Amino acid sequence: MGELLLEVKGLKKHFPIKQGFFRRTVGHVRAVDGLDLSVNRGETFAIVGESGCGKSTSGRTILRLEEPTAGEIVYHHETLGKINVEKADSKLLKRIRPEMQIIFQDPFSSLDSRMTVGRIIAEPMVINDTLRGRELKDRVAELLTVVGLRPEHASRYPHAFSGGQRQRIGIARALALNPKLIICDEPVSALDVSVQAQVLNLLEDLQERFNLTYIFISHDLSVVEHIADRVAVMYVGKVVEVGTTDQLFYNPKMPYTEALLSALPKPDPRNRSKPTLLAGEVPSPANPPSGCYFHPRCPYAQEICKKEAPPLQDTGDGHLAACHFANELTLKGATPLTEIKAPDIITATARHQASVAASSAAQPTEASEQAGSGATS
Ligand code: SF4
Repeated sequence: MGELLLEVKGLKKHFPIKQGFFRRTVGHVRAVDGLDLSVNRGETFAIVGESGCGKSTSGRTILRLEEPTAGEIVYHHETLGKINVEKADSKLLKRIRPEMQIIFQDPFSSLDSRMTVGRIIAEPMVINDTLRGRELKDRVAELLTVVGLRPEHASRYPHAFSGGQRQRIGIARALALNPKLIICDEPVSALDVSVQAQVLNLLEDLQERFNLTYIFISHDLSVVEHIADRVAVMYVGKVVEVGTTDQLFYNPKMPYTEALLSALPKPDPRNRSKPTLLAGEVPSPANPPSGCYFHPRCPYAQEICKKEAPPLQDTGDGHLAACHFANELTLKGATPLTEIKAPDIITATARHQASVAASSAAQPTEASEQAGSGATS
């Protein structure tokens, strides 16, 4: 087990539902409803789940971009020791914020179109007053180079760049203050598949180079399988399973994870099983079901599931699952990549890996993209 960097205990973020002339609170949307996780230094910890399950809100609440409703966020600072982020005052927050950064999902809306790329990347350093003048310019040029762009791009505006290049600018800005932890909020979901591979490759290179820790939020299990060391699955604001990537993908313990994995592309087109189609809708986080939130859709549900919420407990080897029958059910996982033998069988995952391998041989400046965008002209 690695050195702990972040512990989240019972984190909740509820948004009030207001109605009527006096805007009375008539209920709450439980976007995050008791999140427990621990992240080790230097690892990539993925959070997966369907849209609206609370993944992104969890990331934003951990950084205190949203104020938590309840719970603890403990950050292990190298010199200051354990810090309760949820209680930190503005002075302490200013001290630890440089270590905790975020890369946003949409590279088109997350960059201010009125600012030059240089100003966008320099902004965190200006706000924190870490560098000025020549040193600041040099640091911006260095960061552009680190993410595979060129120093002269600093004087251009975001609209002159393609999606992949804009995401590189977002990554450069996140790196500006030498962070330890970066929350990557769906960082490649808005990009083309070939560009996704290049950006994922860049993130992996940067992690190794700067000893970064990632919380990688995604709904794309193929991407998560490729990049994550450990994975947490969220359902209606709660974590329902946590394990290493191998444990979770090849030996799931929670029926919801089995259903998600069944939708992954199959390696053998001659032996395709149908994905497990879940009955019913995803419950509203404003009015979740009793007991196990998954029981109205679970093919294995029993009477107890309607009454008692299963705790997230260890099923062995640190593999956690929130299911009353986690150790009794034999669930189907994904096909391990090592079992894909036939050369004529190409899965989406294998294809994804091939594109990653190809991109690692290429220069990270995305020559083809630049040709299209005119950014290097
Ligand atoms: Fe299904 Fe019951 Fe397990 Fe929930 S606790 S996942 S309803 S079997």
